[in-house]
Amino acid sequence: MSDRERGFFDEEQERMSAKERAGFVRRILRETVPYAYEKAPAARKKLDDAGVSPDDVKDIEDLAKIPLTRKADLKTLQKAEPPFGGLAAVSPRGMRRIYVSPGPTFDPEGREETHWRWEKAFVAAGFRPGDIVQNTFMYHFTPAGLMFEEGLIRIGCTVVPAGVGNTEMQVQVLRDLGVSGYVGTPSFLMTLLEKAKEMGVVPGDGLRLQVALVTAEMLPESLRKRFREEFGIQVRQAYGTADVGSIGYECFEAKGMHINDEIVVELLDPSTGKPVAPGEIGEVVVTLPSTTYPLIRFATGDLTVYTNEPCPCGRTSNRLLRLVGRVDQVTKVKGMFVHPEQVSQLEKKLPELAAVQLVITRTGHEDHMTIRALLAAGALPSDALREKIGETAREVTRLRGEVVFVQESEMAEKEKKILDTRKWD
Ligand SMILES: [Zn+2]
Repeated sequence: MSDRERGFFDEEQERMSAKERAGFVRRILRETVPYAYEKAPAARKKLDDAGVSPDDVKDIEDLAKIPLTRKADLKTLQKAEPPFGGLAAVSPRGMRRIYVSPGPTFDPEGREETHWRWEKAFVAAGFRPGDIVQNTFMYHFTPAGLMFEEGLIRIGCTVVPAGVGNTEMQVQVLRDLGVSGYVGTPSFLMTLLEKAKEMGVVPGDGLRLQVALVTAEMLPESLRKRFREEFGIQVRQAYGTADVGSIGYECFEAKGMHINDEIVVELLDPSTGKPVAPGEIGEVVVTLPSTTYPLIRFATGDLTVYTNEPCPCGRTSNRLLRLVGRVDQVTKVKGMFVHPEQVSQLEKKLPELAAVQLVITRTGHEDHMTIRALLAAGALPSDALREKIGETAREVTRLRGEVVFVQESEMAEKEKKILDTRKWD
């Protein structure tokens, strides 16, 4: 096994037992909630409005007493109380950097040794001290470039702050500096590698890339395989946001992203606000232990599915299996949220189906869901199948719907998995 396969940034923490982990989370909450209450006016107001004393929050279950702070509301919050909406615990002068996202909304970076916490992600992905790493994320306004740089420097790598674009120059730098690591999007990595090939820079002759951490885009397994087989590069994914920093990262096993141990993550059903079970779709809600930006129940808007199965790498954190979209893509039907991913799940569960589309209509004050079922070649419509589809749809969406068998030509706007025809005037 080469050194790039196994390795931990903080093995003791990453391999905590379930009991140790629960204790660790309790310690985070018992420090962060009172600290935020004392220093961040918006956190104090949120708890006061909910009638919750910071001392009431001792365990992860106690967080349920506190309302969410939605990412979508940041702009309004910040406008009402510039620049950070009362969520920051220190003044702008006490920060290392301030970033600007479209909106504009502002994201603070504190003076802590690590504000964004990407170290574990890099070590798990195979980055090692001595790697020269080309960071192709943007360095202007957005935290993307600098947040990864912080973690790389901390684990002993050397960073080339390449930023986006300049493909040809990027390839020259890859070659001339013997760059061994890449950070950026998977699509730009492929663009670079194709350009390199065109310029005669290939593995064994000028190209020494060995590891890559990619994020911000889907990484299809076929593309990961190409990186590995054609270019000899070990590519791992990570997930984070400009508010929180690192949330999840793949280990060598590459079967889902381990949730960062240092933050408290809840995965909540968008309809009920209750924690979801493994395999169900839940929104990522973060409580962030930060002396600069101590967020309490910050709802990212990202939907994901997790597993609590043990991972062969030895890390004991739960893993996010995949990101399935944004909360704003969900449709509310009879008070329940329905997401396009659930329609895909339904299609996968029943091989008799080629495609499914949910059509939502409204009569009076009542929502109706019609399940348009396009059968796979060879499957025949029957009452039994109709019942099976209805039953499976109910398992997946918790809603009853009327099943209609359709031909392809009868699927209006068939690129949409959920067709909402309700009028709200
Ligand atoms: Zn693992």
